[in-house]
Amino acid sequence: MTVPDREPILDVKGLHKQFPVYGPFGRLSGVRARVQAVTDVSFELREGETYGLVGESGSGKSTTARTLLGLTPATKGEVRYGKRNLTKLSREEWRAFRKEIQMVFQDPYSSLNPRKRIGTILEEPLEIHGLGDAAERKQQVFRILEIVGLRPEHYFRYPHEFSGGQRQRLGLARALIISPRIIVCDEPVSALDVSIQSQILNLLKDLQRDMKLTLLFITHDLSVVRHISDRIGVMYLGRLVEEAPTDGLFSEPLHPYTQALFSAVPDFTRGKLERRKPLQGEIPSPLNPPAGCVFHTRCPWAVDRCKREIPQMREVRPQHRVACHLVEEQADKNEPSLAP
Ligand code: SF4
Repeated sequence: MTVPDREPILDVKGLHKQFPVYGPFGRLSGVRARVQAVTDVSFELREGETYGLVGESGSGKSTTARTLLGLTPATKGEVRYGKRNLTKLSREEWRAFRKEIQMVFQDPYSSLNPRKRIGTILEEPLEIHGLGDAAERKQQVFRILEIVGLRPEHYFRYPHEFSGGQRQRLGLARALIISPRIIVCDEPVSALDVSIQSQILNLLKDLQRDMKLTLLFITHDLSVVRHISDRIGVMYLGRLVEEAPTDGLFSEPLHPYTQALFSAVPDFTRGKLERRKPLQGEIPSPLNPPAGCVFHTRCPWAVDRCKREIPQMREVRPQHRVACHLVEEQADKNEPSLAP
């Protein structure tokens, strides 16, 4: 089960992000430790696809997104967009580049100025990027309100006059108004009721088709990621541990962490309910991640090698990459089943 190969629009290579931890007197106390939020993450975002990034809270998915958007500087690694390495852009260069890549947050309300009317809020990005004159900007706002399913009279309203679902439509409108090529969605439907979630997800899919958007979709919700994604990357403790087309990942999750994560969701893909080993224990602290495979403290299949050697991502089936010693050994032996 593969998806058609398309050109990568964003190529993330060996991305690292560490946060310094200071003593009781802040920077004056010096750096006491470092939080390894993202470690050696590599993946491609292909033109026109939806790439889902999934994992427990604290797995590093939101930090990955914020780092590749330049909202927090990368410690190491590259994010290639054409010939540019986005980790090297200055603040000024990012300001111009934001036209290409936009973000939609979980809670759009916190980023909407409560004292401004929606029309003014939506016209601001157009003004910042010098797009159109006043009349054209106003016309563009009415157009985008219609595209995201809002009404012309909403132009004159304030953010507090909108429901949760409508605010997320506003978040989408603000991201889309300058016609970006890529949208990074960070848990955009987590705070919404299930019925509103599906409306927003379906809207996103329609917008993606009509506006030829590429989406990076971050969520901890497996049914949401399955519904929206063409391919999925699974993160654990700052590392990417598995990546595959959506159907392939759900029908045959190979990494023990992915299997455990999916065990919480009923799986009827093979015509019967399957039970997998549930995830035990807590996610370790990113201040002191385990040596070797970061999952070995919770993995039911861990062997000695797992405590010493870091498994590397390896393609074990077409478009299906996994970082696990046991899966790699099964693949080397050409075993029909690769799952431990
Ligand atoms: Fe488990 Fe070892 Fe595979 Fe890590 S490398 S997931 S500890 S079997």
